[in-house]
Amino acid sequence: MHKSNTQGQIKNIVIVGGGTAGWMTASLLAKVLGKTLNITLVESDKIGIVGVGEATIPPIVNFNSAIGIDEKEFIKATKGTIKLGIEFNHWHNDGERYMHAFGSIGKKFPFCDFHHLWQKHQQLQNGSDNIDGNSFWDYSLNYQAAKQGKFAPIKHIPNTNLPGLAYAYHFDAGLYAKFLRKHAESLGVKRIEGTITDIAQDDKSGDIKSLKLEDGTNITGDLFIDCTGLAAILIEKTLNTGYDDYSHWLPCNRAIAVACEKTDHIEPYTRSTAHKVGWQWRIPLQHRTGNGLVYASKHMSDEEAKALLLKNIDGKPLAEPKVISFQTGRRRKQWNKNVIAIGLSSGFFEPLEATNIHLIQTAAIRLVKFFPHQGINLEEVNEFNRQSKVESEGIRDFIILHYKLNNRGDSEFWRACQRMDIPESLMNKIQLFKKTGKVFCQPDDLFTEIAWQQVMIGQGNIPEDYHPLVDTLSKEQLDDLMKNLKILINRTVETMPSHDDFLNSL
Ligand SMILES: Cc1cc2nc3c(=O)[nH]c(=O)nc-3n(C[C@H](O)[C@H](O)[C@H](O)COP(=O)(O)OP(=O)(O)OC[C@H]3O[C@@H](n4cnc5c(N)ncnc54)[C@H](O)[C@@H]3O)c2cc1C
Repeated sequence: MHKSNTQGQIKNIVIVGGGTAGWMTASLLAKVLGKTLNITLVESDKIGIVGVGEATIPPIVNFNSAIGIDEKEFIKATKGTIKLGIEFNHWHNDGERYMHAFGSIGKKFPFCDFHHLWQKHQQLQNGSDNIDGNSFWDYSLNYQAAKQGKFAPIKHIPNTNLPGLAYAYHFDAGLYAKFLRKHAESLGVKRIEGTITDIAQDDKSGDIKSLKLEDGTNITGDLFIDCTGLAAILIEKTLNTGYDDYSHWLPCNRAIAVACEKTDHIEPYTRSTAHKVGWQWRIPLQHRTGNGLVYASKHMSDEEAKALLLKNIDGKPLAEPKVISFQTGRRRKQWNKNVIAIGLSSGFFEPLEATNIHLIQTAAIRLVKFFPHQGINLEEVNEFNRQSKVESEGIRDFIILHYKLNNRGDSEFWRACQRMDIPESLMNKIQLFKKTGKVFCQPDDLFTEIAWQQVMIGQGNIPEDYHPLVDTLSKEQLDDLMKNLKILINRTVETMPSHDDFLNSL
């Protein structure tokens, strides 16, 4: 039994860092356990926040609602927009594109997923998958709405039991932190501004005892949440927890980001465009568009990256581009002694599938579930760390998939990704899908089978077979089913307001 330095009861929580991670964690802890805890958040105006991280995935809708945020207020305050998926341009071959659209595709059948039907239908039509022709994405409500710039928060396709749109948000990271700060303070979180210069540890246990600010203020606590971003001042600089490096699988280690003027129409999806080295994000907000290039410094200099980024943005830049260095990987233990790392301090997989804010959310939820109110118990810490590792590895594999299955070959960067050894778990998924069209996920996996199917197909891993159940339908039945689904989806999208109108209506 590992006891905290309070010999038991844990009541004084110190969250270090006031970026997305700090304020999301503060909001959830205050909302759920606020009555029993004293929660203090320390942040440094001098250091500021990383200022990127503006695209999310659908579970954030529930998180916001769980901490008591009104959706309209949130979208207005953060200059937010709707995100229906991520479009991947040139990732498989130059000139090709596909989308990881959120939500479902087609109609779910017992025993066999929709893409098996689509695949047989394609074969009967002698068609190859083409996103502008009879493609898998013709049957995605999210894709069709995204490309037509439409949005309405519908739970179902009218008069059917088919699911409606699944969505997430894009938002201004700085405004989100401010918005959450106000919210968390209204729930009782105490904020202290200042830069931490010294950290004191217990001589025996090595637990963190207190933090000292530049102005001499001393802050004591029972449990410390390290939300200090890439600096990781508690979990790494003090506790030397160690880092599992993923750069042999996820080779990018730099990003250069610049905001530019907004465009006339705001697209309800993120764009990810592969370049000769790395890829570029485009995140449309109400007042500006966020852009950034993610690249590997081994293959491209910062100067080249800056020139490439500025050549490929579609509005006037609003500031000087900012370079951010990182190392892909994760902290060996997310919870070590009386410190829990949440946000960039716990690791970073690169922003391709916008999973890092989600990992903040799940870590904060896990912390509430495992909250050590009577003292820290090693078995509990181990289980917390095990769960976070399993979750992270599933996400890691999904991101590696995009790199591994590229067919570009126009630079050593992409060729090395094609050749690289990948985790066995991922290799098995790729091969099983290729041979049988099947992909299986665990109940706790973040990315669903439909997400995997889209990226596998989009990256050219077309199955050699489909499920035998499909052959129980005649050609006419299959044709009718596919035709009717398409009609249903197109009609539903037609009746939706534009995304611009939706935002204006707020
Ligand atoms: C290039 C890039 C793009 C990204 N894009 C996405 C995306 O699209 N979607 C997504 O989900 N995630 C994305 N992420 C990750 C996302 O940005 C982060 O997960 C998120 O912003 C949380 O950051 P943070 O709060 O951990 O760190 P930060 O925002 O850096 O906050 C750190 C806080 O710690 C404080 N601090 C640090 N040192 C001290 C000190 N000594 N004393 C006092 N305070 C201190 C700082 O002042 C600050 O308040 C991206 C990350 C990068 C690098």
